[in-house]
Amino acid sequence: MKVTDAEIVISAVSQKQYPGDRLPEIALAGRSNVGKSSFINQLIQRKNLARTSSKPGKTQTLNFYKINGMFYFVDVPGYGYAKVSKKEREKWGVMMEEYFETRDVLKACVLITDSRHEPTEDDVLMYDYLKYYEVPVIVIATKLDKIPKDKRAKHVKQTYQILEVESEDIVIPFSAETGEGKDDAWSAIRQYI
Ligand code: GDP
Repeated sequence: MKVTDAEIVISAVSQKQYPGDRLPEIALAGRSNVGKSSFINQLIQRKNLARTSSKPGKTQTLNFYKINGMFYFVDVPGYGYAKVSKKEREKWGVMMEEYFETRDVLKACVLITDSRHEPTEDDVLMYDYLKYYEVPVIVIATKLDKIPKDKRAKHVKQTYQILEVESEDIVIPFSAETGEGKDDAWSAIRQYI
């Protein structure tokens, strides 16, 4: 997809701030520092629309990016950052619950994992959480450029196995550095918008 128009519409902290135009939404979730902003920026060909953050776990808002006036990417705050206080974690939980439980224009969630490593316990919890709410998931195994070519298939297989990816979902190997997997990511997203 060629993105001609991408703008942040709102950084929301609660439901009443969500956009009201009823466009389809694709949520983006992932561990802090996993490469979520880099994924968005690579897909929409912007250097810095989604800030690549040096302080993981800091942004506690849902960021709604309107793409081509057609749908939203909804960047949800990263998880699994050890230094976050209990209070912050609770706030995160409430915000996620409020969004995933009730948002009927939510069509799918992109879940970003680090292809170099096995999915973490937090990744598994997040996947299960999304499945509990019956949200279709597109898993993006990013930082592919960091694994030797002959090891990539094995890492992707591991991701399928550890997350116990359901048959309607998919794992897409990806690199924000080289753009590999970008067309596959767009094809997967297109099915839902
Ligand atoms: P976020 O906190 O999940 O939004 O993560 P960022 O997008 O800020 O990325 C965290 C770090 O990983 C940054 O230093 C990025 O440059 C780096 N990074 C992200 N994606 C890739 C990738 O595909 N390949 C490589 N080599 N580095 C990446």
